[in-house]
Amino acid sequence: MTLSTDDTPPATAPLLALKGVGKRFANSVTALDGLDMQVRQGEFLSLLGPSGCGKSTALRLIAGLAEPTAGHIDWNGEETARRASGRPSISFVFQEPTLMPWASVFGNVHLPLRLAGVSARAAEPAIMEALEMVGLSQFRDAYPRELSGGMKMRVSIARALVTKPRLLLMDEPFAALDEITRFKLNNDLLEVWKRLSCTIVFVTHSVFESVYLSSRILVFRARPGRVHAEVAIDPNQPRDEAFRTSPEYVGLCRETSTALARAMEAA
Ligand code: ADP
Repeated sequence: MTLSTDDTPPATAPLLALKGVGKRFANSVTALDGLDMQVRQGEFLSLLGPSGCGKSTALRLIAGLAEPTAGHIDWNGEETARRASGRPSISFVFQEPTLMPWASVFGNVHLPLRLAGVSARAAEPAIMEALEMVGLSQFRDAYPRELSGGMKMRVSIARALVTKPRLLLMDEPFAALDEITRFKLNNDLLEVWKRLSCTIVFVTHSVFESVYLSSRILVFRARPGRVHAEVAIDPNQPRDEAFRTSPEYVGLCRETSTALARAMEAA
């Protein structure tokens, strides 16, 4: 399958910017200090770095799940208006699928809309569209125990998509999956990104995954957590099996690995 991003909008306008952001926890751990970064409208941005360098913390701050202890996050005007109106525009996908074992696939994907007061009947078209996007239309009545790890993650992604987010935040969603399942989910995620024209911020510690997926990679360093380097990748580059084995891909992986090694030395 060839995934061209020709028809995605240009990823230039900033959607949000973290300015001088710091996060110090009650146990005196400083996870982030002086973090400056932008997320641009429509981009697929990966945050890459070794464990403990503050990637998840940055994602949680963007999600509003935690507050910075220094600096601030600026949202562009349109996005702020959407948030103020109460319409959901951000979704979060965690490393674990965190499904409700007692609910069907349909029930699990319904959850964010149910919490917003939308009945199952009214939500059905959106739920079925989300399940179709992740290839699980036939499994609406299945229960989590009947699904493989990859399918559970697909349900988790469908649950995130059901609100049609403008910004999708993903914290190492494929880390626990085998390589074949991971490659397939990588391709399917790129299809979703294109179809929804949304912005994705994706946390990973895999150089190979970040290069395959992203239009831009921010390489983090630890102690203190902040951006050490940036790698830009042509968003019009088709992402397919030919790309995975191409000299361009190998060259970008080398460039990114070198940046990561320097970031680790700097810490
Ligand atoms: P990464 O996602 O890059 O692995 P994290 O953002 O999870 O890094 O963590 C950065 C640092 O902050 C680590 O040292 C971690 O132990 C610490 N940390 C994260 N969350 C908390 C918390 N709730 N309380 C105390 N320390 C935390």
